[in-house]
Amino acid sequence: MVVKQITMAHGAGGAIMNDLIKKYVLKYLGGSGAEVPLEALDDAAVISGIVLKSDSHVVKPIFFPGGDIGRLAVAGTVNDIAVMGAEPIALSCGFVLEEGLLMAEFEKILKSMNETCREADVYIITGDTKVVEKGALGGCVINTSGIGKRNEALERNIAEVKKHRSFDAQWILDANLREGDKIIVSGTVGDHGLAVLSSQEGYDFGSQITSDVAPLNKLIVRLLNVGGIIAMKDPTRGGLSNTLNELSEKSKVGIMVNEEKIPVRRDVRAACEMLGIDPLEVGNEGKVVIGVIPQKAEEVLATLKETDEGKNAQIVGETTKEFDEVVLKTAVGGKRILAPPIGDPIPRIC
Ligand code: MG
Repeated sequence: MVVKQITMAHGAGGAIMNDLIKKYVLKYLGGSGAEVPLEALDDAAVISGIVLKSDSHVVKPIFFPGGDIGRLAVAGTVNDIAVMGAEPIALSCGFVLEEGLLMAEFEKILKSMNETCREADVYIITGDTKVVEKGALGGCVINTSGIGKRNEALERNIAEVKKHRSFDAQWILDANLREGDKIIVSGTVGDHGLAVLSSQEGYDFGSQITSDVAPLNKLIVRLLNVGGIIAMKDPTRGGLSNTLNELSEKSKVGIMVNEEKIPVRRDVRAACEMLGIDPLEVGNEGKVVIGVIPQKAEEVLATLKETDEGKNAQIVGETTKEFDEVVLKTAVGGKRILAPPIGDPIPRIC
């Protein structure tokens, strides 16, 4: 089928968006020869030893339980740099403001960005402001870009990996998994998407589901200092399901996931059941999926569990060469292929 127009699904983080990027964006913008190029479709790129990431935020509404577009914009870019194993150095910020946005709201967003930057220990050092006519933005759109660099924690982590296997990669990449590696999820999945959905639609889920949006760079440094981490991703749009499929595809390994081990809040699970949504396809903004060599998995997990962000962490699965896909071992003992989501069950959550 020839697609003639952009649809909401093209921005949903699933198979349709991946197709758009591969068939159109890479066709014209690939070819840099960078150390980690656009074609790697990793969380960020690397060129001349510098990690670079750009991320636009279109969440609607701009204020939601547990966060706002400002916190999201800072944390989103910080996390994409951090999951490469890099230390964020500085961010840029491009505002597209809609005519009519209340000054008090704009100030609230800026204050939130400042607080999140302080939490992540990073500054916004350049930016741009544009205003468009009142329309579809829902208040504003924020783009943040950021740069990061290697640090001692990454070197220590790689040295630890090398005690157990030969390892040529310089960064924590999606393609680094090998057979027998453990997959850790740092906490409950689905919270962010459901929190935004509840404010989009005015749903009352009986309890307040709040977004997990948070910068994870300090947590990640702590984990890199334990060592043995070879791949990492933040399971944003497309959720855990899309993240696992990306890791599997790029690393050319199958992943067996134990459904019972995947942490999901009880109220999130209930809301998903009510709405017919799979919590594994719902985006997160304060979680990380970590591929660890088996020798270090328990230690990384224990370190996560000592932290507030990681107290619900679990080893949810393991990589295998027995098959190529992501396979979910269900709670009742069956097995099914966990395909990447086609679109997004909840639009405009980030
Ligand atoms: Mg990412």
